[in-house]
Amino acid sequence: MAEHESLEFGKADFVLLDSVSLEEFMANLKLRFEKGRIYTYIGEVVVSVNPYRAMNIYGRDTIEQYKGRELYERPPHLFAIADAAYKAMKRRNKDTCIVISGESGAGKTEASKYIMQYIAAITNPGQRAEVERVKNMLLKSNCVLEAFGNAKTNRNDNSSRFGKYMDINFDFKGDPIGGHINNYLLEKSRVIFQQEGERSFHSFYQVCVCSSINDGADFKAVADAMKVIGFTPDEIQTVYKVLATILHLGNLTFGVDGDTTLIENSKVVAVIGVLLATKEENVGKALLYRTVATGRDVIDKQHTTQEASYGRDALAKAMYERMFCWIVGRINDVIEVKNYDAKVHGKNTVIGVLDIYGFEIFQNNSFEQFCINYCNEKLQQLFIQLVLRQEQEEYQREGIPWKHIDYFNNQIIVDLVELQHKGIFSVLDEACMTVGKVTDEVFLQGLNSKLAKHAHYTSRKLSPTDKSLEFDRDFRIRHYAGDVVYSVVGFIDKNKDTLFQDFKRLLYNSSNPVLKMMWPEGKLSITEVTKRPLTAATLFKNSMIALVENLACKEPYYVRCIKPNDVKSPLLFEYERCRHQVEYLGLLENVRVRRAGFANRQEYPRFLQRYKMISEFTWPNHDLPSDKEAVKRLVQGCGFEHDVAYGKTKVFVRTPRTLFCLEEQRDEM
Ligand code: ATP
Ligand code: MG
Repeated sequence: MAEHESLEFGKADFVLLDSVSLEEFMANLKLRFEKGRIYTYIGEVVVSVNPYRAMNIYGRDTIEQYKGRELYERPPHLFAIADAAYKAMKRRNKDTCIVISGESGAGKTEASKYIMQYIAAITNPGQRAEVERVKNMLLKSNCVLEAFGNAKTNRNDNSSRFGKYMDINFDFKGDPIGGHINNYLLEKSRVIFQQEGERSFHSFYQVCVCSSINDGADFKAVADAMKVIGFTPDEIQTVYKVLATILHLGNLTFGVDGDTTLIENSKVVAVIGVLLATKEENVGKALLYRTVATGRDVIDKQHTTQEASYGRDALAKAMYERMFCWIVGRINDVIEVKNYDAKVHGKNTVIGVLDIYGFEIFQNNSFEQFCINYCNEKLQQLFIQLVLRQEQEEYQREGIPWKHIDYFNNQIIVDLVELQHKGIFSVLDEACMTVGKVTDEVFLQGLNSKLAKHAHYTSRKLSPTDKSLEFDRDFRIRHYAGDVVYSVVGFIDKNKDTLFQDFKRLLYNSSNPVLKMMWPEGKLSITEVTKRPLTAATLFKNSMIALVENLACKEPYYVRCIKPNDVKSPLLFEYERCRHQVEYLGLLENVRVRRAGFANRQEYPRFLQRYKMISEFTWPNHDLPSDKEAVKRLVQGCGFEHDVAYGKTKVFVRTPRTLFCLEEQRDEM
């Protein structure tokens, strides 16, 4: 008996549970984790539990075991999903995507790297140099992006503080020929503030080598990776200069002398001037004054110390974010598909890998958590549409009797956030456009007046006796994954995301061409700047809508990551912690739909093609009136009728076990 069929390790597929209850699900998950079986299927979805220890299951020999195999032939593994996505792409010319979800520290980024390594390992048998170059770039890009986009948090020593979607393009031979990275909402506030016990982005420690992790060695690895990717020495130097500038900005303090705001440590300004290749006095001026156009006049308006500090922090955050996006852009320049003529070579197909922040509930939830949780609502909606609804629709189309499975459709929450005019983002944008002094409270009032009746929205004003809403600045959203209380403090500021134009001009006017290139909008003079930039919420919303549209036209594969405990222990399976994740990831509903349904479906001719050698009625050809009849005969001959249904164009197989037996019989022929 194959290992994944053995009961000692629990059920390899939750679909095979004797009954679908939360208790059985959890018992199986726990047993498998304790036996070191960190992967389990729900049909084609991989559920992964972070082992928090090195596992000897990612080597060359394991890769060989999975290469070109079917899902049910081997124990559950990320490699099997990667192979399935790859096969679908190669055999059927389909764009596919692998969506990896789970909370911070659940293992998403590690999973995405193993998937990429697998794909790199099984492709390019011909060892074409250009393909090897592309593969190397794709793998190296991870190292650079992690240095600049990851940080130590209380949940994860290497936490991704940005969302990442990476397309890998393949040519007609199925070899990688390029790629593209999209990054989403970098948590730039980390540049100026970190919670107790957390750090800023790794890159800062790498340049200082004031190591607590392995920052010194990492510095070298990142510098090498940047060189290999093709960053020029000037570009790499500029990156260090930006990092140094941000560190110096952190030391800058403001004071007053009479009516004048001044910089207390002016030496720092001189250093920044050198780093940014601009005049010291220009740096000082941009930090202390703001150029404003009043009618036809242009005047310099002095900042208060408070405004100056705000400006300094905004500059630090914006420089970091801009540099990060620029780095992604440079990587994209290098990995972009070049010289591919679709007319000659056929369509180039894509596998997309999405590694994006999971649902977050913190002690104090702000604008960032709101955006992240909205992102998860969007992905859940996509999951519902693609997996649950499509599944039901296919049975209907094929005329297979189908028992409707109830699931919570979260579209109502997606609408609550993103709907034009009525949604929370719209209310926020409206508040930001109010003339005069805008406060977070104005925003909260707007929410209360527009959303008072919404079933998924409450605030203290609307529900004064509600104990979970402590302050008058809180509102609560009933997310599909649970209730989250958000504090409105900072929403307006973070959404407006103002960076004084003076800074943009300062950076654009640098005599460092690389820096200048990062700030093209600094070209505009004060009188030319008229358009209000899009708000952070609108930008994020647009990027999420585009992401979901992109994923929706691909064939999706899912990896659902679970974090077993909060202490990074390889031994501890914290039951409650895991149960909560299983619930909000909707895994049980997933099993129910899958079970009510069928593990596998294939069009009749394809099914015959693969298994016709098993039956004398179908080998080498059949003389039955249709392929459907032939498949029926074949299945009867094997004794699997009870496990199979016949649709209009496809045969549906209920359990993977049946498929497995068919495979075995085929192998024996
Ligand atoms: P975040 O949302 O914070 O970015 P994440 O889901 O991407 O979190 P990872 O960074 O992938 O989490 O994993 C956190 C840590 O857990 C890793 O640094 C590693 O120590 C451990 N880990 C995760 N997956 C594995 C694995 N398959 N084998 C061994 N260790 C793992
Ligand atoms: Mg990560």
